[in-house]
Amino acid sequence: MDYQAVLDYIAEAVTPKFGKGRVADYIPALGSVPAGKFGMAVQLPDGSAFKTGDADEPFSIQSISKLFVLQLVMSHFGDMVWTRVGKEPSGDRFNSMIKLEMEHGVPRNPFINPGALATLDLLMSLKGDTKHRIQNYLRFLAMNESVSVNETVMRSELEHANLNRAMAHLMKGYDNIHMDVDALLETYCFQCAMEMSVADLALAGLPLATGGHSPVHDASVLSVSQAKRINAVMLTCGMYDSVGSFAYRVGIPAKSGVGGGILAIVPGKMSVAVWSPELDAFGNSYVGTAALELFTSLTHTSIF
Ligand code: GLN
Repeated sequence: MDYQAVLDYIAEAVTPKFGKGRVADYIPALGSVPAGKFGMAVQLPDGSAFKTGDADEPFSIQSISKLFVLQLVMSHFGDMVWTRVGKEPSGDRFNSMIKLEMEHGVPRNPFINPGALATLDLLMSLKGDTKHRIQNYLRFLAMNESVSVNETVMRSELEHANLNRAMAHLMKGYDNIHMDVDALLETYCFQCAMEMSVADLALAGLPLATGGHSPVHDASVLSVSQAKRINAVMLTCGMYDSVGSFAYRVGIPAKSGVGGGILAIVPGKMSVAVWSPELDAFGNSYVGTAALELFTSLTHTSIF
């Protein structure tokens, strides 16, 4: 398969789709990102990598960070994480708290905002600086020491984090948040404001495609069972309440962020990342989803 030709074809084919989504501006610092950016990257287990467009430009990974924090938590706490958060799709927006009170402060899954807060709360119970732990993990996975936080985006979100703060307090009321809420929110905004390129993300996602042992990293990052389970949660919860149509159109596990990135995994084969800042009504990249739909169709890599 000529992946380079496929990526270059996709970059061209998605051009008419620009202008139909909306760049996220509820975090003001994200609103100034140029809408026309597009990058896509593929990483194979044998080390070969392919990319097109703005594939080396770092952008705000936002909720894609939830995938890496879940990995850290599963590595340290194993199945205990599922006492704090469920593994069912929510059917609601990523920042909805409508079910949270009805379900006694236990969020539906680790990828919606309340679920990510509960997951991070568990990680913060470990000794040591959680921000460093997250940054070091991303740098290790992406094999890139320059992966860092964008302080402006972090501060901007922190100033506008009323909904996330409300969720954290509600969960604390149900004893499902144990840390100080201010410290939790600051660390959450830090993880969301980390910046990576699609080339970084594709490499960082590789262990999920290789049963947890990445030949490129020459390390076992996750157990086979953890990689399998995280892919399952991505498939069922990674794209919020459009996860059904994403499975229908694209057919592989994926995790999106409101920065316009999507990291998708073809289990056993490869990791694919795409970035285009305009979002659909569900908060997922509009052009990015179309690009991944083309990718799995052209390369026959839908799992279905
Ligand atoms: N930082 C964002 C928020 O909490 C992440 C949401 C997302 O990327 N879907 O709202």
